Amino acid sequence: MTYDPGNIFAKILKGEIPSHRVYEDEHTLAFMDVMPQAPGHVLVIPKKGSRNLLDADPQVLANTIPVVQKVANAVKEAFDADGIFIAQFNEPAAGQTVFHLHFHVIPRHEGQGLKPHSGKMEEGAVLAAHAEKIRTALKG
Ligand code: 5GP
Repeated sequence: MTYDPGNIFAKILKGEIPSHRVYEDEHTLAFMDVMPQAPGHVLVIPKKGSRNLLDADPQVLANTIPVVQKVANAVKEAFDADGIFIAQFNEPAAGQTVFHLHFHVIPRHEGQGLKPHSGKMEEGAVLAAHAEKIRTALKG
């Protein structure tokens, strides 16, 4: 249960792998999930590496949750959502596939189901348009 700094989100943080970023501050980055479970699915990650919530520095959690809240409100507005689903998985048995702590922020609409977790890759242009809507809501 150690942190591997070669994981894909660490590469996104370093800019080695492209992502559609919606928010960044000193401690935190938020970007579009490439296999969204619903349009507007965002991942919020701390910049400081931990494998998941179980080994995270509590101060990192204290820095990250206000950003989860900020992004959740922006996603709700941008996608006119009825609700927001926040998900966070710890270890493979719980569904974790990328081993850098992250929070899923997923808009929900009454009567509409979710697509599968880590399902189908979305078109880059669609992710770019969704990221722009969320950035606009974050400014408002
Ligand atoms: P986990 O199962 O670890 O909670 O979720 C990992 C999430 O990362 C999945 O929802 C998956 O779609 C997403 N993901 C996997 N690889 C990439 C990637 O290279 N870029 C982005 N933006 N998301 C990714």
